Amino acid sequence: MNISITKTTTPKPKPDINNLGFGQYFSDHMFTMDYIDGKWQNAQIVPYQNISMDPATMALHYGQLIFEGMKAYKTADGSIFLFRPRKNFERVNVSNERLAMPPVDEDFCLEALCELIKLDADWIPDKPGTSLYIRPFMFATDPFLGVRPSQTYKFMIILSPVGAYYSEGLNPVKIYAEDEFVRAVRGGVGFTKTAGNYAASLKAQTEAHDKGYSQVLWLDGIERKYIEEVGSMNVFFKIGDEVITPELSGSILSGITRMSVIELLQKWGVKVTERKLSIDEVMAAAENGTLKESWGTGTAAVISPIGELNFKGNAQVINNNEIGELTSKLYDTITGIQTHKIADDMGWTFKV
Ligand SMILES: *Cc1c(COP(=O)(O)O)cnc(C)c1O
Repeated sequence: MNISITKTTTPKPKPDINNLGFGQYFSDHMFTMDYIDGKWQNAQIVPYQNISMDPATMALHYGQLIFEGMKAYKTADGSIFLFRPRKNFERVNVSNERLAMPPVDEDFCLEALCELIKLDADWIPDKPGTSLYIRPFMFATDPFLGVRPSQTYKFMIILSPVGAYYSEGLNPVKIYAEDEFVRAVRGGVGFTKTAGNYAASLKAQTEAHDKGYSQVLWLDGIERKYIEEVGSMNVFFKIGDEVITPELSGSILSGITRMSVIELLQKWGVKVTERKLSIDEVMAAAENGTLKESWGTGTAAVISPIGELNFKGNAQVINNNEIGELTSKLYDTITGIQTHKIADDMGWTFKV
């Protein structure tokens, strides 16, 4: 498929690189294509602009909407790299399949993304900690109020220059284990990146904030006993000499950062296990001093150290509320590979 390109005649002023925040500014262009009559068509890059929709657009009513999150980095010599981008487009199709949405051509989407990034290359910030956040998304567009899969869809990619996820730097966060609300259940859509999962998480997130905690630790939706994720990140615990992360149960998102952390730990000879892990086991390890480190993983923050865990009013401090040795080695290695400050011997980066 050909991509038609219409360049903007009125480029926007660039935001202050020191105050980018996260997801607040958008580049000059966007990619869109439409699924009509059983095939993808109208692939185009156009100036960033509003989209017009019928009020009955199905995505607004029944939530057939999936998205991805990835980043582009500009290296010291001005080259542009993506981090394991094929994995994101594979995951688009995992989400699509579960939401009864049609697949996209993964190679074509990556090609379209590269075209878009090249056109907006001067939107990629190059200050340490900054990057270009990439948001592909796809939603149902039939104007129809009956419950069935839509027959038409729109796929889009927008770009947003972002600063470091945590403006205060890599500091341990306090997390609150949620024992009333759940995010997802096995058999549901927890393993997909679909909008409703985030809507389902907001009330607990707001209540945790009000109690002084920055993220919710989600427990499984059936027994409310096994750890699933932290906020919208995957989660790891170092207990003794072993690193443990919840196994992919069907209600957990299969994070690309999670996968990369597991592969690095294996390469370094650190014992890493994917299994069911109960909140009681983690609290007991915190109490008896064997819980050494804990961190969350995700594209936005990359690695987020956890300094305190509260479950039913029992607040346990982890590693003196300091960043653990393994946590910081993982952060330095992954961000180092992403920005090509260290050699990519894992073959993870993709040149645009
Ligand atoms: C996106 C996401 C993650 C992290 O996935 P990455 O591929 O590492 O960015 C983890 N959990 C949830 C719920 C997510 O939406």
